[in-house]
Amino acid sequence: MRAMLLDEPGRPLRVGALPVPAPRDGELLIRVHACGVCRTDLHVLDGEVRASLHPLVPGHQIVGTVEGTDRRVGVPWLGWTCGECRYCLSGRENLCDRARFTGCDIHGGYAEYAVADERYCFPIPDGYPDLQAAPLLCAGLIGHRALRMTGDGERLGLYGFGAAAHIVSQVARHEGRRVFAFTRAGDAAGQRFARELGAEWAGASEERPPEQLDAAIVFAPLGPLVPLALKALSKGGTVVCAGIHMSDIPAFPYEDLWGERSIRSVANLTRRDGDEFLSLAPRIPVRTTVTTYALEETGTALDDLRAGRLHGAAVVRVAGG
Ligand SMILES: [Zn+2]
Ligand SMILES: [Zn+2]
Repeated sequence: MRAMLLDEPGRPLRVGALPVPAPRDGELLIRVHACGVCRTDLHVLDGEVRASLHPLVPGHQIVGTVEGTDRRVGVPWLGWTCGECRYCLSGRENLCDRARFTGCDIHGGYAEYAVADERYCFPIPDGYPDLQAAPLLCAGLIGHRALRMTGDGERLGLYGFGAAAHIVSQVARHEGRRVFAFTRAGDAAGQRFARELGAEWAGASEERPPEQLDAAIVFAPLGPLVPLALKALSKGGTVVCAGIHMSDIPAFPYEDLWGERSIRSVANLTRRDGDEFLSLAPRIPVRTTVTTYALEETGTALDDLRAGRLHGAAVVRVAGG
């Protein structure tokens, strides 16, 4: 099969070939139709997130059909958990000590076939074509978990308006929240895109929003955004850091944290997050804006993501519809 391979961190992805994988008991052989591109892929490429497998097929927002059937399934980042550690036993499998992640510890979706543990796959909601469904599987699921962690505050700031924020803003508006979007300075097109998706205000990350925020989610992997977001919060507010890797957070005065403000991270996802979000998304309905790439153009998609040239999500089209 054709596959995009990462030989080691720091190297570009290359077009290669691997044998079609053989599923073991409990695993599905999936003919990949589409795979969404995620910032975590960049962290894997750069070695900021350590993969346990090389050469590696990255990609963890897989939409495909079980080989030999028309049963459509989605494969997310969480690929396997132990089921017996203290985290797994307390409803926090996202924190499992021995978790294995798709496109990192298990070959992912930038290939014509993938195998996945059936227990961690989700049915894809009807009404979402493959390409539009792919970003739901990480941008959507992690965004959903991050939004839940903000509590129920009305005024929500989103720092970094990429794939996840473009989904979260739709969910937040549906819940009656007010959305304030922060982008790179001068990104007028990104700010316009955020307003189209329901943000009542959009500006540069360094700007103060017109009102204090009840919560903020930082999607961009930039530590300096954390004290900025904290400064924009009202008392009792929370900054949720949603990325898997971030540059260092600069020092800030305790006064900015005082007033029961908090900073927390969101790690991975549970299967429950997936079930919740994938049943919620079609009811809103969440609409994803996607830019598509051929399998051999996966590297270009990642470059475009890194450079901030995308609005919405990048999706690699592998086969089928
Ligand atoms: Zn575990
Ligand atoms: Zn992801």
